[in-house]
Amino acid sequence: MTNAQGRLQQIAIRVDGPGGSRRQPHQGPWARRVEAVVSRHRNLLDFVHAGMFIGFLALMLVPLFLPLPAEGATFYNNFTLFANFVIWGLWFPLVFVSVIFTGRSWCGVLCPLGASSEWANRVGLKRPIPAWVRWRGTPIVSFVVITVLAQTVGARDYALGIAEVFGLTFVCAILLGLVYGRGAHKRAWCRHMCPIGLMLGVFSRLGAVQFAPKKPRGQDDAYAERGICPTMIDINRKAESRHCIECFRCVNPKARGGLKLLFRRPGTEVSNIRQYNPNAAEIWFLFLATGLSLGGFLWLVLPQYQWLRQAVGSWAIDHGWYWIGTSGPAWLMAVHPAAHEVFTWLDFFMIVGFMLGCAAGFGIALTLITAASSWLAGRLGADLHLRGRLVELAYAYMPVAMLSLVIGLGGKLFDALALTGLPGEAIAGIKAALFALSVLWSLQLGFRLLGQQKLAGVRRMVALAPMLAGIALVGIAWSPALFGY
Ligand code: SF4
Ligand code: SF4
Repeated sequence: MTNAQGRLQQIAIRVDGPGGSRRQPHQGPWARRVEAVVSRHRNLLDFVHAGMFIGFLALMLVPLFLPLPAEGATFYNNFTLFANFVIWGLWFPLVFVSVIFTGRSWCGVLCPLGASSEWANRVGLKRPIPAWVRWRGTPIVSFVVITVLAQTVGARDYALGIAEVFGLTFVCAILLGLVYGRGAHKRAWCRHMCPIGLMLGVFSRLGAVQFAPKKPRGQDDAYAERGICPTMIDINRKAESRHCIECFRCVNPKARGGLKLLFRRPGTEVSNIRQYNPNAAEIWFLFLATGLSLGGFLWLVLPQYQWLRQAVGSWAIDHGWYWIGTSGPAWLMAVHPAAHEVFTWLDFFMIVGFMLGCAAGFGIALTLITAASSWLAGRLGADLHLRGRLVELAYAYMPVAMLSLVIGLGGKLFDALALTGLPGEAIAGIKAALFALSVLWSLQLGFRLLGQQKLAGVRRMVALAPMLAGIALVGIAWSPALFGY
C-alpha cells in the first residue's frame, strides 16, 4: 500500500467509527434468493461458458469465410453484418450498461474469454504472477494497445479486424492462464491485463451489486494469490468492487464465512469512495480512456483531422518520405481493396498519433480542472491533502465518461433504432436525455464527494464549479456523436 493509500485508509477507518468497522447494509430477501439460486446452480456455469465460447468463435470466425456484404444488405439478412451488430451494437454497449444493474456479472457468468483463461490455468504451469503483470499500469497499457489496434485494423467495420482483435485477446488470455496463477482456477488475465475487465471493473464501482465479507478482517483489499478467489482477492479483507468478477465461488448461504451478496443504491461506492480503496491508477485510466475513445471517434468525423492528415502527408512527401504513402501489413492496418479502403503508413501514424494526442490532451485537461476543484476545496476547508482530494473527486466523472463510451463507441445500437423506423430526432433526443442524466449523476457524485471532504453549503457549490467545466468539456467533445454536430 502506498503512503497516500495508507493515509486514506486511516481516514476511512476514522470515518467508519470506533474499531474501524464499516456498517454493513442489511442483506435483503432478494439478495438471499439470488444467492441461493446461483449457488445451487453454479456447477452449470461451465456449460454456459462453453456455449458462449462456441457462439463467440462463430461470430469471430464465420464472417471470414463469407463474401463481403452486398449493397443494401442489413443485419437481418447477412451474417457478417449480424455478427458485427451483435458485437458492437449489442454486446459492447449492453455489457457496459449492465454493470450499473448487475456489476461484473458478464465476467463471472458469461464471458468465454475469462473462462478459457481459467480452463488453461487448470492444466497450466501455475507459476507465481510476476511483477510486470501485477503492475497497476499493465491493464491501462493493454487497453490503449487494443483500442488503438481496433481502430487501425478497422475492427468496427471489418470481419478480419474483429477476428484479429478478439483472437489476439483470446490467445493472450489463454497463454497467461497457462503460465501464471497458483491454484487451479486463477484468472491472472482478468485481474491484471484484460482491457474489457479494466473498464467493467472501474465502472462496476457505480453498480448496484456488492459482495461483502461476512466476517471482515480489515478493508485494505489485500492480494491473495493462493486463496479461493480467481482474481486474487483476500475475501475477508475485500472492500472495493473492482476486481470481483461475481463468480460466486466464495458465496455459500449456509456458511458462516465467505462473502454475501448485497444490493445497494447505484453510486453508493463512488460517493463513499474513501472507504473503498480509491487509487490514482483508476483515475488515469478514466481520463485517458475518455480521451482515447474520443480520439477513436473524432478522427472519423472531424474535417480538421483530414486537413491535418493532408498537411502531414505533404510535409512527408516534400522531405522524400515516399514510403509513407504505401500500405503496410494487414495485421497492423486496414487493407481491404475490395471494399475500397486501404490504409497507408500515413493513415496508421495519423490515427495512432491523433488518438494518443486526444488521450494525453484530455488527461491533462481533466486533471487540471479536477485539481482546480480540489485546490478550491482545500482553500475552503476540505480535509485530506491535494492529491487525496483530487483522486476522490475524479471519480465523479464516472457516469459521464461511461455514457460517452456507450453512446460514442456503441453507436451501432442507436443505428439499429433507426432501422425500427424511429425518426432521427427521437434517437438524438434519447441520446441527449441519457447524456443529461449522466451529467446530473456526475454532479450529484461530485457534490456528495465534496460533502465527504467536509464542505457544506455555498463552499461546496464553489468547489464544484470547475468540475462543471470538465463535464461540459466532455459533452462538447462528444457532441458530434451525441447530437450530430
Ligand atoms: S476480465 Fe475480461 S476476460 Fe475476464 S471475464 Fe471479464 S471481460 Fe472476460
Ligand atoms: S470475491 Fe468471491 S465472487 Fe468475487 S471474484 Fe472472488 S471468489 Fe468470485
